[in-house]
Amino acid sequence: MNQATVLIVGAGPAGLTLGVDLARRGVSFRLIDAAATPFEGSRGKGIQPRTLEIFEDLGVIEPILSVGALYPKMRAHLGSFSLRVASLGSSRPPTESVPYPNLWMVPQARTESILRERLHALGGRVEFGTALITFRANESEVHATLSSGETVSSDFLVGADGGRSTVRKVLGLQLNGEAIGEQRMLVADLEVEGLDRDDWHLWPVFTGGLMGLCPLPGTSLFQFTSKAKTVERGIEAALRKVTGHRVKRVAWSSIYQPAVRMVDRYRVGRVFLAGDAAHMHPPAGGQGLNTGIQDAYNLGWKLAHVAHGGPAQLLDTYEAERRPIASAMLGLSKHLHQTHSIKRGDATNQLNLHYRSGPLSSGIAFGNLHPGDRMPDVQLGDGSRLFEHLRGTHATQFTPSKGPHILIRPDGYIAHIGSMHSGEYAGEPIRYVQGTLHQGGQR
Ligand SMILES: Cc1cc2nc3c(=O)[nH]c(=O)nc-3n(C[C@H](O)[C@H](O)[C@H](O)COP(=O)(O)OP(=O)(O)OC[C@H]3O[C@@H](n4cnc5c(N)ncnc54)[C@H](O)[C@@H]3O)c2cc1C
Repeated sequence: MNQATVLIVGAGPAGLTLGVDLARRGVSFRLIDAAATPFEGSRGKGIQPRTLEIFEDLGVIEPILSVGALYPKMRAHLGSFSLRVASLGSSRPPTESVPYPNLWMVPQARTESILRERLHALGGRVEFGTALITFRANESEVHATLSSGETVSSDFLVGADGGRSTVRKVLGLQLNGEAIGEQRMLVADLEVEGLDRDDWHLWPVFTGGLMGLCPLPGTSLFQFTSKAKTVERGIEAALRKVTGHRVKRVAWSSIYQPAVRMVDRYRVGRVFLAGDAAHMHPPAGGQGLNTGIQDAYNLGWKLAHVAHGGPAQLLDTYEAERRPIASAMLGLSKHLHQTHSIKRGDATNQLNLHYRSGPLSSGIAFGNLHPGDRMPDVQLGDGSRLFEHLRGTHATQFTPSKGPHILIRPDGYIAHIGSMHSGEYAGEPIRYVQGTLHQGGQR
């Protein structure tokens, strides 16, 4: 029987993020994916500012920034008349506390390939063509049966296996919630003749709904969206009829039903759920991939600490911290889906999400900062940024010249404001940084 400390099921954005985090923390794991080859579609293309900060810590921010782009303006076409309207994303300059202020567009397959490259550099790999069939868990381990016929024994199993999660089904957990809207939707990546790539083009369809073509950065493709019914006689014919443009190539397509659903438990003993396996979002607001990446980022350092001999209770905090976040994000995605609002403000950027009432947050408030908040970036006197010092697996203690000590967890959230901590936090060494926190620590 083969052994690993953690078996990660599913190598989408959530599973890959966990793989990268465990690899850099020296935890042995296997990362399996049922698909024979990597995912090829653009699907979750909107990366939120908080996820970009996580990508900085995981060492993938440079390639993510180099292959992506800001969201283009939308252009509504009405016959021969067309009108440029707002963009879904902002275009703000970075500030001291927020280095990545804008929604960033990268086709999902590209984000995944960048995470895979990072995983390879850290010595890990994805085992494609290897599905989890079933598993059984007891108090001390998990035995999983794979499609290869192999049985794997692990200390922990993480189901990052998407909306149809086998792990969730074997656990007997339900995705509670509802489909929203009666209509199934189609998303596809197309090469289109004679259409400029400056705007996200939208056409009203006379039977209702919109047809959209969004240029995908770093490719010659557009992400096409429409009600599935509108294209039931073929994408090419429907697109030609509504937009007047010809499809040169359909690179990928998929049909989905917008829904808001989530599980009531993220953990059953030694088995965890992360990403779409635990919560399903409609695409509006760009929350699904981002929330899944942040689940994995929350779980990685906790799993590593317990795997290295730390107290197992730390793992209880995963559900306590992440489930309320998914619930809030689902409410937001549903509202945006139902109102068709393109006004996002700061609601979707995930920078203000916090664990203030979580079990790991203690101490006093200081200026705008509370225990459990995301630690903002700070420009330091030596010209470096605080976030550069957060990069890596350690914890950090930031001490402003006038103020209490701020202990920052390995995932960049504030554990404690107040007294000095020395030694380690969650088994990780604490790095000490001093500086000046302007405007009470603007979030
Ligand atoms: C049209 C559209 C637009 C979207 N836009 C955005 C956006 O802008 N921003 C955003 O944040 N989100 C967006 N999303 C959502 C986003 O695509 C998903 O939330 C994201 O893919 C979830 O990642 P995941 O890793 O949890 O699961 P998945 O990406 O579904 O990955 C799960 C993996 O598990 C594998 N797997 C499944 N079963 C097994 C098994 N039994 N054994 C082994 N492997 C298995 C699968 O092959 C797959 O690779 C959008 C979704 C749609 C449909």
